[in-house]
Amino acid sequence: MRFGQIFCLFCAFISCSLVWLIYHSYKPSWFSDVLECRATVTKHVTLDLIFPVGVACAQPSVHTSRQDVSISTPWSAPIVWEETFDLVVIDNIYKYQNITVAATVFALGKYVRFLKDFLESAEQHFMVGYPVHYYLFTDLPNEVPEVKLGEERQLTVIKTPSLKRWQEITQSRMGMIEKLIEEKLRNTIDYIFSFDVDTKFHAHWGAESLGDLVGVLHPYLFGSSRQQFTYERRPESQAYIPSEEGDYYYEGAMIGGRPDKVYELAKTCRMQIEMDKDNQIEAVWQDESYLNKYFLYNKPTKVLSPEYMWHDEIQKPDHMKVVRFSQVIKKYAEIRPNT
Ligand code: UDP
Ligand code: MN
Repeated sequence: MRFGQIFCLFCAFISCSLVWLIYHSYKPSWFSDVLECRATVTKHVTLDLIFPVGVACAQPSVHTSRQDVSISTPWSAPIVWEETFDLVVIDNIYKYQNITVAATVFALGKYVRFLKDFLESAEQHFMVGYPVHYYLFTDLPNEVPEVKLGEERQLTVIKTPSLKRWQEITQSRMGMIEKLIEEKLRNTIDYIFSFDVDTKFHAHWGAESLGDLVGVLHPYLFGSSRQQFTYERRPESQAYIPSEEGDYYYEGAMIGGRPDKVYELAKTCRMQIEMDKDNQIEAVWQDESYLNKYFLYNKPTKVLSPEYMWHDEIQKPDHMKVVRFSQVIKKYAEIRPNT
């Protein structure tokens, strides 16, 4: 090697070291902007619906599969009902991509009593065959029941402070979901769901429920007019929805989607809850009211039918061919910290 070449190599080495040193010492704003920009791009990538070669499936029909219920929203998001999807097709798409799912659940105070049924039934019916990581928030970690988990399924208990009012507990979930995604899940999982704990799975809840932003229709208010929806009607609240607006009434006991989308939802609702708190106002149905406001202006890309959110005290109408998940009957006075 000639002296000239050695000198060039030396200069290149010194320049690289200098750039590295300047970046780590000052982090110039143009450099951060470039990184920030790249981060935003990757955050919003959607999963492609890649289908493996050589898998035989039934041919799709060109006619609507259900006559009795709507299977699509006015913005063309699917409304998922029994007989509207082919699980063989769906599982081939998502298993091929090795997706992972997180499920959060909150059990504070006496609500720990619901955990056993929730977890055991989830193990039987929720995303069976996919890796699932439960994140369980509780102020009573010693009372978390032992539940045998399947292969590739795990549970992390996160100790949370006790709260005195049930309204605070249900609303505080938004901030905790936001923080969990920001600190742990953002780049490590593909989908996240959050559930009420006073619930039980009864039948298959699988990959047909996956989407960028997923909401579920309320079992009581399904079919009601928008004027009857129990939206927040006081203009002073951040959750306010005027009587001439509204698509559906969504249940607050489940939200789901890609981590970046659920993060935006949780953060927005958390901020609006705080703003209202500063103004001494609390929305009529707490986090559910803010969720309904969010979904009105940020439309869900997939809507789950009440099959995915039933209530044990309601009689099943004909259009409900299956109950996949329901809220159980509970004695409010017995389990809530305040009335
Ligand atoms: N929750 C809790 N402890 C409480 C009150 C509520 O852990 O004392 C959590 C729990 O996950 C529950 C959710 O907040 O499922 C929503 O509250 P709740 O089920 O009472 O509301 P509802 O479904 O009756 O409107
Ligand atoms: Mn509930």
